[in-house]
Amino acid sequence: MLRPEDFDAPLARAAEHARRWLGSVPERPVAPRTTADALAEAFDGGLPEAGVDPAGVIDLLARTAEPGLTAMASGRFYGFVIGGTLPAALAADWLVSAWDQNTGLRFATPAVAAAEEAAGHWTVDLLGLPPGSDVGFVTGASMANFAGLAAARWRVLERAGWDVNARGLAGAPRVRVVVGAERHDTVDMALRYLGLGAPEAVAVDGEGRLRPDALAAALARGEGPAVVCLQAGNIHSGAFDPFPAAIAAARRHSAWVHIDGAFGLWAAASPATRHLMEGAADADSWATDAHKNLNVPYDCGIVACRDVAALRAALGMHGDYLVHDAHGDHGPGDPFEKVPELSRRARGVTVWAALRSLGRDGVAGLVAGLAANARQLARRIGGLPGAEVLNDVVFSQVSVAFGSDARTRAVADWLVADGRVWMTGSRWHGRAVLRISVTNWSTDAADVDVSVDAVRDALAATEGL
Ligand SMILES: *Cc1c(COP(=O)(O)O)cnc(C)c1O
Repeated sequence: MLRPEDFDAPLARAAEHARRWLGSVPERPVAPRTTADALAEAFDGGLPEAGVDPAGVIDLLARTAEPGLTAMASGRFYGFVIGGTLPAALAADWLVSAWDQNTGLRFATPAVAAAEEAAGHWTVDLLGLPPGSDVGFVTGASMANFAGLAAARWRVLERAGWDVNARGLAGAPRVRVVVGAERHDTVDMALRYLGLGAPEAVAVDGEGRLRPDALAAALARGEGPAVVCLQAGNIHSGAFDPFPAAIAAARRHSAWVHIDGAFGLWAAASPATRHLMEGAADADSWATDAHKNLNVPYDCGIVACRDVAALRAALGMHGDYLVHDAHGDHGPGDPFEKVPELSRRARGVTVWAALRSLGRDGVAGLVAGLAANARQLARRIGGLPGAEVLNDVVFSQVSVAFGSDARTRAVADWLVADGRVWMTGSRWHGRAVLRISVTNWSTDAADVDVSVDAVRDALAATEGL
């Protein structure tokens, strides 16, 4: 029989280690102090014959991991597009694990299914998407892109008289997929999983936005089923594709329109940035992440799809032992019909907790704050001698170069070693850049000051390169 007291010690230890870790985040260097190679030895050494008591395991885990942890929860972590964790979302995530609900069926796990449905409705509302869109909680935007494009594949082939579920792709009409040259690589990955091959990439402007004239020309060169994948939030510039013109071009060819808005869709949640999303709600499917701007723990992405039947046809399944929701095809649907997995954790509950803790105003403030901090960093770092901000800072992303590629790379390396901030080196439009992504809810004016100081010191240390 389950003995509740067996859980007391390990949970108490986990809470204490979590508090200690979070307490260290504001002061510790952002970068880890050791490498995965070094820690692989500490963690492994062959599977021991004898076990360790649960609380002892948690102590061992925390102690071994500590030097290799990166302060991604820090307000001065600007790498990739990451985000931290809101207190309510982190605590909700613990409950999700304690509850251990296999979130596939409404009848079997009603509480988490209903919480996720509410989170889905709230998200659709905040992002300005069509009411009634289906929402699935997936691992991240990679799988959200996959899910949206799977629905697209099913629908455009169905319109061409081809049932891809029954017949597969061999012999099917070719599905053309058109993307902007600066789409995220996960779009290509999703298309590969779907057997659609490499997309046709069309020209973008100086901010990385797809050019609608180039899209129209590409679509006019062919015929047959087509999918257009647009982007809300370029990882280097933060720029948004011009949705009204691009979607109009796609509609002239009856193309399905999917938008990868891993971080950008959240622009719709604030009056300060909502204009960037103009026209985006006219697409068919959207991918975003809750684990980026909304600051819930990994792994939590969201697919939304206007065409409920297409999403469920592409991802749903039937098993005699699965007792489907009593509402049938026109109801809210079971969670498993909207995502690639059958068994999964109730990851959407963290979205409910984050949104409930922030409210509509809080989400608007969070999103506007990220954009305001990005503008501050761009203005102040751009004002340092030798620095050049390369993009128009419309949202949360800043790409900056420091003269030569060698110096830009040296600045990036110096900053990681220094430990006050983490910014990722990258290449954009043929130049080495330092990419600053402001995605953490806790970044404040003091963090911005420290970050500008760190870059100033990095410039001093790399003078002459
Ligand atoms: C982060 C990101 C992705 C991938 O999202 P994951 O959550 O890492 O799977 C896709 N597209 C864009 C624009 C992104 O920023």
